[in-house]
Amino acid sequence: MARALAANKPVLPVFIFDSNILAGLPRDDARVTFIFDVLQKINKQLVEKFVSGVAVFHGNPLIIFEQLLCTYRIDSVYANRDYEPYARERDASVHDLLRAHGSRLLTFKDHVLFETDEIVKQDNQPYVVYTPYQKRWRSRWQEVAGEIGQIAVPNWGNLAKGLPLPWLTLTDIGFERSVLVVAEYRIDSRFLQNYGESRDFPALAHASHLGPHLRFGTVSIRQIVQQTARAGAEIFLNELIWREFFSQILWHFPHTAERSFKPRYDHIKWRNDEQEFNLWCMGRTGYPLVDAGMRQLNATGCMHNRVRMVASSFLCKHLLIDWRWGESYFAQKLLDYDMASNVGNWQWVAGCGVDAAPYFRIFNPGTQIEKFDRDWRYIEQWVEDVHQLSYPQPVVEHSFARKRCLDAYGRL
Ligand code: FAD
Repeated sequence: MARALAANKPVLPVFIFDSNILAGLPRDDARVTFIFDVLQKINKQLVEKFVSGVAVFHGNPLIIFEQLLCTYRIDSVYANRDYEPYARERDASVHDLLRAHGSRLLTFKDHVLFETDEIVKQDNQPYVVYTPYQKRWRSRWQEVAGEIGQIAVPNWGNLAKGLPLPWLTLTDIGFERSVLVVAEYRIDSRFLQNYGESRDFPALAHASHLGPHLRFGTVSIRQIVQQTARAGAEIFLNELIWREFFSQILWHFPHTAERSFKPRYDHIKWRNDEQEFNLWCMGRTGYPLVDAGMRQLNATGCMHNRVRMVASSFLCKHLLIDWRWGESYFAQKLLDYDMASNVGNWQWVAGCGVDAAPYFRIFNPGTQIEKFDRDWRYIEQWVEDVHQLSYPQPVVEHSFARKRCLDAYGRL
């Protein structure tokens, strides 16, 4: 937006609810409500301060751009880059369409600090192991940190004023308000200082809730990194670098959205038992930490990172259910769903991705309770029936499941 405003031509802010993305979502999807509310806030500010606003559309972006080209004389369209495979194809088509009409699509980096091939090995190949990527990322950050601090004040005077702008309600786009709310993020210095020692204990809920804000661009990754670096919060910074690591992996290897990074793992003989999958989804596996995580996810759209690792590992390894089933369930439910991070982490857990944990390292859901929820505070918060007779027996016995998993992976 700032770049468009700097071009000294009238700027019309446009938001398109992409029907190709919205089509598969439930009517009360909390992420759609969140986007709608943020748009409404931005629109209100623009109307009040600048007699301007946001033009909102719903449909296939290519068709919407065809309509916009008929309505306005468009010199350039400014947008931030999106690295997911569908978005890349969509944006390439929009680029071609605009060019055919003598207009241009100008895209910018915003979602990450370092994108695509900005952090590569000396031979220009992408990093597929986190630690060297992280080292290179940090040294690049040292080089550019000074420049990134300088944020130009947008030239709001260039907003197009007084135009009648289309607006849509949630109902107009086929949705209704969700009862789930995206939490505000928290990243004060006390939080950052305690992150390293508290982050693994789900009962402490020591998490920033930045996920959805980074995903939907309601916070600047540049500001967050600066604040983190100033506080010397190295472990938190590492997490932000994991996010960038997975982003560049998806960009370099778009096939990983659907297939394993390591092709031989596409030959695992998954059991894919639908009944067991449903028990996992509902949080009724009889493994309290797994069930707590899944019930937290179903009730709130969030799940603590440690518990995500245990629950996802349980699905792939104990139940031998294809990681893609779990990835897609998380994609439906997580408020912070981000394809690169979700796929990257699922493959990491399943042992089939970049820098993956070796397949023979299988989380023991019981030991994980002793380490991270010893007094069962988190579990009791989410699994009310955990001490009752009605609570299910374990869907599978741990040692048996462990051996079965090792056999399945070992056969590859
Ligand atoms: P904090 O712990 O406060 O971390 C701050 C930020 O660092 C996060 O918002 C995120 O941007 C980044 N981060 C932290 N851990 C990771 C990680 N392992 N990988 C990538 N980035 C990380 N994160 C998503 O943003 N979207 C997803 O769809 C997603 N799916 C996941 C699926 C599985 C199976 C697992 C094990 C992890 C997944 N994660 C995902 C990573 C992590 O669990 C979440 O980023 C984190 O729990 C979000 O809560 P927070 O924002 O409070 O995180």
